[in-house]
Amino acid sequence: MDISKITVAGAGTMGNGIAQVFAQSGFEVTMLDIKKEFLDRGMKTIEKNLGRMAKKGKIEETDIGEITGRISTTTSEAEADDCDLLIEAIYEDLEAKKSIFSKFDSACGDSVIFASNTSSISITALAASTSRPDRFIGMHFMNPVPVMKLVEVIRGLTTSDQTTEIVTSLSEKLGKTPVQVNDYPGFVANRILMPMINEAVFCLMEGVAEREAIDQVMKLGMAHPMGPLTLADLIGLDICLNILRVLYEGLGDPKYRPCPLLIKKVEAGQLGRKTGVGFYDYR
Ligand code: NAD
Repeated sequence: MDISKITVAGAGTMGNGIAQVFAQSGFEVTMLDIKKEFLDRGMKTIEKNLGRMAKKGKIEETDIGEITGRISTTTSEAEADDCDLLIEAIYEDLEAKKSIFSKFDSACGDSVIFASNTSSISITALAASTSRPDRFIGMHFMNPVPVMKLVEVIRGLTTSDQTTEIVTSLSEKLGKTPVQVNDYPGFVANRILMPMINEAVFCLMEGVAEREAIDQVMKLGMAHPMGPLTLADLIGLDICLNILRVLYEGLGDPKYRPCPLLIKKVEAGQLGRKTGVGFYDYR
């Protein structure tokens, strides 16, 4: 199947990055969001990223207009259903995601593939809410999308081999490295990452070490590019907590219980970089 037109639902952190990498690889992209200001902000981020890449010599300055010219924006779902692949990157909320997939399910042709960029919601459950469970897959890009090589390609219980092959080869066309995994809570990336972050928060709560010491041990001792508490602040503590709850509920093992200090931080609104305070103070 020939994929040339992509609709990206959600123009936020992930959506605009996904739109950018597809447009850079020559695909026609429609970026959909609920408000024009969110689309404008997404386009600004894309232009800024491309400008930075041109300065570093990774693309030509003259390519920028051509790349952004491949991205159209809309707040109307009806203007976004003419596509070969729909990638959903809206809020991490099961009902919101089901609702948008259901609208596109009625409007899109049978051959259109649906993909979700969810960090933790079951691909099998989302697929089952549509009439195309075999043409439904997880396409989990990493943040920042234009920089990170990995696409975790998540097969739901009903995802067909053909859909998996199409999305795997498409990810390669974007210059990414697709890795196939099966649909279990947290998939692979967050199943391993989040317990590590959670354990770092337990170490902090129990006074095993100061925050800087915990991060330094993992950076210098394990060659991690940043420590787990710094990384948690970057991801957002609310997102970390949500994913841990999905692991805890989905796998039923107490080893995934979120650390009380993480819960307290989220209750206090100290969500990391995005609010100015998390485990570190960014103000
Ligand atoms: P975000 O909050 O930055 O962006 C979400 C965007 O979706 C917003 O602009 C919002 O207006 C829009 N939106 C909400 N409902 C919509 C609808 N019905 N139609 C169209 N647009 C709608 O969120 P994000 O960080 O980009 O996350 C998006 C998805 O990607 C989530 O499922 C998240 O779990 C996943 N994800 C996030 C990261 C990360 O590091 N941020 C990494 C991997 C995966």
